[in-house]
Amino acid sequence: MPIRLHLGLLFLTNILFLLAGFMLGMSTHEALAPDLPAVLQGKFVRFILFGMLPAALGVLLAGVIFRFLITGLCPKCGGRAVYNASRYEKAAFAGRSKVPITYHCHQCGHVHRTNVFPTGPQL
Ligand SMILES: [Zn+2]
Repeated sequence: MPIRLHLGLLFLTNILFLLAGFMLGMSTHEALAPDLPAVLQGKFVRFILFGMLPAALGVLLAGVIFRFLITGLCPKCGGRAVYNASRYEKAAFAGRSKVPITYHCHQCGHVHRTNVFPTGPQL
């Protein structure tokens, strides 16, 4: 699919899987609550183990799906372009520079730079 669409769907799926993981974890806890030991009954433990952990796993799963199963379309040759997250790179002189989300084509080697920097503003 086109890179713009791929990127949009990736973000949407990330949010959906995050919420779904959280909801699924919480309802699993509710269903299992009477049989769980006292250690797992605490509010904080429930939030981390049955809320944040499944939510994080959901986001990981979305990342794996959109990196390995669903790829972008290379704007040059139409081949499979694989998503690469934005990151920091060591700059030539001092400090570090930000690299946006890129898509790497496995057929022609073209690297498509997007204008999306989800790692936040650079300090
Ligand atoms: Zn290509």
